[in-house]
Amino acid sequence: MISIIGAGPTGNYLAYLLAKKNYEVQVFEEHKEIGSPVQCTGIITHELQDFVPVDKSFLINKINRAKIYSPNGNSILVKFKKSDFVIDRIKFDQYLAELAKSHGAKYHLGSKYESNDDKQIIVNGVRIKTDKIIGADGPFSKVAKNNGLWCDRKFVTGHQFTVKTKCEKDLVEFWLGIGMFGWLVPVDENTARIGVVAHKNPTTHLNKLISKRCPNAKIISQETGLIPIFNPKQILQRGNVSIVGDAATQVKATSFGGIIHGLKAAKLLSENYTKYPELCKKQVNRDLYVSLLIRRALDKFSAKDYNDLIVLCSNPKVKKILETKSRDYPTKFAFGIILAQPRLLKFLFKLI
Ligand SMILES: Cc1cc2nc3c(=O)[nH]c(=O)nc-3n(C[C@H](O)[C@H](O)[C@H](O)COP(=O)(O)OP(=O)(O)OC[C@H]3O[C@@H](n4cnc5c(N)ncnc54)[C@H](O)[C@@H]3O)c2cc1C
Repeated sequence: MISIIGAGPTGNYLAYLLAKKNYEVQVFEEHKEIGSPVQCTGIITHELQDFVPVDKSFLINKINRAKIYSPNGNSILVKFKKSDFVIDRIKFDQYLAELAKSHGAKYHLGSKYESNDDKQIIVNGVRIKTDKIIGADGPFSKVAKNNGLWCDRKFVTGHQFTVKTKCEKDLVEFWLGIGMFGWLVPVDENTARIGVVAHKNPTTHLNKLISKRCPNAKIISQETGLIPIFNPKQILQRGNVSIVGDAATQVKATSFGGIIHGLKAAKLLSENYTKYPELCKKQVNRDLYVSLLIRRALDKFSAKDYNDLIVLCSNPKVKKILETKSRDYPTKFAFGIILAQPRLLKFLFKLI
């Protein structure tokens, strides 16, 4: 019996993959409804299709272009060769859970994992037998805490409002120099998710972005949460306990998107339990590490640096790379971008 704690995208996808291989799988989710409450913008690259078909039950919108603004108001327009998707996170998480159930995984909702020993987990005060325990229980993973897998993790805050405002339906906006960055992701022509990621004072940064972009926007809802910063020294496994997804800090530090790398790590874990940490090192961590280095450099940027960055990125060769390469896998384009625009090298000195 494999017990997965957490029915987010990572836990559900893992449950599906393991159940498909005929393992006996049970998933424990503390909430009564899968996917709720939402703490996500739901923008995801075309790489999603490498894991699951993009089903119309959860697809809300497609994004073909990005406009990236620097603090002085300049911008570049990037036309994606392959569209990004905007998804409904509740329906996406539920879609994955249904896939898992259809292959025999058993779900227990309203079931909060409390602790474990070697062969038992304690859920809602009840002891349940298990062979393996997998923590897909998000950034504050209790499984990680209880099993010496917490390591030295740090967080940033993602703070977002869904608002009524005019926007271009296929255009995502990124705003540099507001918090770590800000975004506006359209749901349709009149509704958008506007947010920031910040080390501190997320409310101040979000207010600044709203007053700049859409001061009269009507707020419909708020989605806020802490996001783990990838820890290259994260331990992923101890005996029969593993962690995956946000629980294992498998999040890109450039955009703080965690869905794709969570799914990828889940796939590796389902393929080879014992070699999972080693496989992650080779196939997940490199991109996450390059993202972390980029983030460390960006964290030292002044407004002028962002202004210069946008000018340098308007070089047609750089733009072409941004348009064709997936931002999920920076190892595939970081070197090419430097070759295309060697003046970007000056930003590498920020790492020293
Ligand atoms: C504001 C914001 C915007 C974001 N936007 C994006 C985006 O656009 N694209 C993107 O890729 N990523 C985005 N992210 C990050 C993304 O939401 C996460 O990376 C993703 O949800 C991680 O999935 P997961 O399954 O690993 O963890 P989670 O989605 O956190 O799922 C963990 C599950 O475990 C359950 N759980 C926790 N503890 C227990 C327990 N003790 N017992 C039982 N169940 C438990 C939780 O209820 C939850 O259902 C955003 C994050 C924030 C905060």
